[in-house]
Amino acid sequence: MAKSRFEYVREFEKRDLLLPQTYIVVRIDGKNFHEFSSFYQFAKPNDIRALKLMNACAKNVVLKYRSDMILAYGESDEYSFVLRNDTTLYNRRGDKIATLFVSLFSSNYVALWGKFFPDVPLDMKHLPFFDSRCISYPTLRCIKDYVSWRFVDTHINNLYNTVFWQLVQKCGFTTREAEQKLCGTVSSEKQEILFSECGINYNNESEMFKKGSLVTRSGEILHADVIKLIDDLFEGY
Ligand code: ATP
Ligand code: ATP
Ligand code: MG
Ligand code: MG
Ligand code: MG
Ligand code: MG
Repeated sequence: MAKSRFEYVREFEKRDLLLPQTYIVVRIDGKNFHEFSSFYQFAKPNDIRALKLMNACAKNVVLKYRSDMILAYGESDEYSFVLRNDTTLYNRRGDKIATLFVSLFSSNYVALWGKFFPDVPLDMKHLPFFDSRCISYPTLRCIKDYVSWRFVDTHINNLYNTVFWQLVQKCGFTTREAEQKLCGTVSSEKQEILFSECGINYNNESEMFKKGSLVTRSGEILHADVIKLIDDLFEGY
């Protein structure tokens, strides 16, 4: 095709190449899911349908990019996709990778919604959308610590949310009272409050809630102790 005199505007596009030889994380996160989850009346703190929907979307992204993928890990409204350090996907263009992953994830979320929420139609004014970013990690240590960081975050958030919502839903606390009760407590104290006030042993909570979801390159979904498994998960990379 002949070049037009307008062609020069292309020069304004910036090249956004991720550093060579680095592991790439693509993390997507639901936009304003606090409101989204309340509009669609998600069970609090963990709606199983919504978590399974996230996992199904993540699995399809993993399988689509299987040869570049090491694993994916998700909790709540977020998922992290970890790519090999030698990937040449889209010539390592950060904008291509971030936008294609998030749009594939979002279109899956809409397409699969009805499978997980059969009696809840999506409302045009409350459609799901996600943000996305790419992060480069230079060493195996860093990438293992990244996945461990998200895993620990799942644990901290889930323990807090579990006790908080039990106090509110089962023990008649107001949200403010529950917040005050938990303020400044460490993990063991939260587990003790859950046990003594609500009669619940945190250990017996669902593995998916406590541990998040790990998607392997073959598309298997596990709810495992990432910290214990971290060396195995990255063996060979
Ligand atoms: P932002 O746009 O900045 O990400 P956000 O409202 O999405 O804002 P997050 O920190 O991402 O904030 O938190 C996501 C929120 O979505 C959680 O706090 C929780 O209220 C809700 N949520 C996500 N997944 C579920 C689920 N499976 N069950 C119940 N609530 C959920
Ligand atoms: P890339 O992933 O690199 O963008 P691509 O196949 O999408 O690859 P484009 O240069 O974006 O390549 O071209 C989009 C192509 O999609 C067009 O060449 C055309 O074949 C097809 N296409 C897009 N919109 C229409 C349409 N409305 N009707 C028919 N064909 C269309
Ligand atoms: Mg956020
Ligand atoms: Mg969010
Ligand atoms: Mg989030
Ligand atoms: Mg195109």
